[in-house]
Amino acid sequence: MSWMRHRPTPSSTAPSSPVRLGRAGLFLAAAFLCLVCSTRSAEAAGTGWSAGSGREKITPPAGLWMTGYASRDQPADGTAQDLWVKALAVADPTGRRGVLLTLDLCGITREISDHVAAELGRRHSLPRSAVMVNVSHTHCSPFLNGNLSGLRILPPEGVAKADAYATDLKARMIRAAEAALASLAPATISWGEDEATFGFNRRENAEKQVPELRAAGKLKGPFEPRVPVLAVHAASGELRALLVSYACHNTTLGINQWHGDYAGSAQVELEKRHPGATVLFAIGCGADINPAPRREPAHAEQHGRALADAADRALARKLTPVDGRFGSAFEDITLRFSRLPTEEELRTAREKQQANREMHQAWAAAVAADIKVKGDRALEYAYPIQAWSLGNVAWVALGGEVVIDYSIRLRRELGPNLWVFGYSTDVMAYIPSERVLKEGRYEGDTSMVPYGKPAKWTAGLEEKIVTKTHELVKRSRATP
Ligand SMILES: [Zn+2]
Repeated sequence: MSWMRHRPTPSSTAPSSPVRLGRAGLFLAAAFLCLVCSTRSAEAAGTGWSAGSGREKITPPAGLWMTGYASRDQPADGTAQDLWVKALAVADPTGRRGVLLTLDLCGITREISDHVAAELGRRHSLPRSAVMVNVSHTHCSPFLNGNLSGLRILPPEGVAKADAYATDLKARMIRAAEAALASLAPATISWGEDEATFGFNRRENAEKQVPELRAAGKLKGPFEPRVPVLAVHAASGELRALLVSYACHNTTLGINQWHGDYAGSAQVELEKRHPGATVLFAIGCGADINPAPRREPAHAEQHGRALADAADRALARKLTPVDGRFGSAFEDITLRFSRLPTEEELRTAREKQQANREMHQAWAAAVAADIKVKGDRALEYAYPIQAWSLGNVAWVALGGEVVIDYSIRLRRELGPNLWVFGYSTDVMAYIPSERVLKEGRYEGDTSMVPYGKPAKWTAGLEEKIVTKTHELVKRSRATP
């Protein structure tokens, strides 16, 4: 089970920013290209791409509150596994660059993502669309103010510590990205995939019955076992960086200590197996997918090894080199919540003795505060969609907790060389497909409580998201 949510920050709703280098940018790109040409070795010269990586530890100091589960009633009491922000920078043969940041965090706010992207844009002439942010959704990570605001009302000291953490986090994200940009070097970038089967559709199968159903091949509901990998090899053949993705909730654990969960364990395992490589994890559309078994740290290790094994099997086969150009596109669309709560509903949430009372109180406080600032505009939300083309492969990064239907549909419509990430840019709520919205329950409706949002989404969001995604993928591929 997972409880997340976020209070809408006055985030930018800037119109789409197609890749534009400008004159200064073109000069820098040309200078960069010359540098690339002069240093590129013959072995890596196949496609003319470069890559670099960076990392910063983001394990919080003592005394911070955790996020993800409403049940925790005290701050974290230690570190079981360090949390990281990792960065992968890529540059195509024309010098056009993109930076992917992956973080061992449950959620992220639009304010943090936009701040980091704006700063990288200012310092390195990167367009907004060229900075991509994805969080792994580990529930053993710190509470961020403005994210999952309906989970719990923190004491003032907890709010202050979370603010200080967010300030430091932004600085570390920028440092990691700058290290990746500074280390851009000729490389062969290639991709492949394999499968892991520790996830299952949590809406369609009772967790207790999963071992039995799995063994009998009788698990129900949509699920994608794909483990796509993107590998960066140096001219010497050495693995420099590896990006692994999987569409499954990163919720093996609910311990009271910092931990990257299965995704963190997979990164640790792969970095052990491939010394010198930076391993990143970007989560797919796993909002209705859970890992099983879970609860024990040994289960996170087990799933981490399963993911690492899948990545290594993919690496052992012939990979497809990334060839062609880099292109990116980013745009917000406006999604609407179905209604605002009445005064009576807010009062009931504040006063009623009920299960998870503190969560309902936090929901009422978050929604009331939002309505006070925005009035009827509290019904609207600027939803971020981003697309990258890396030659022959395309990535889509969608905000929120996106259910698996989106990945299945988009890959069917846009082709198998498409990877769809959820939990990107801004994790503001669950993003149900039309099917899941109609069915309701947690992912379709009641998760809006921990997210501090007024009500479920208005019907029609799937079509809006899919239509804009098609447009942005096309635009990223057409980048001149
Ligand atoms: Zn979740």
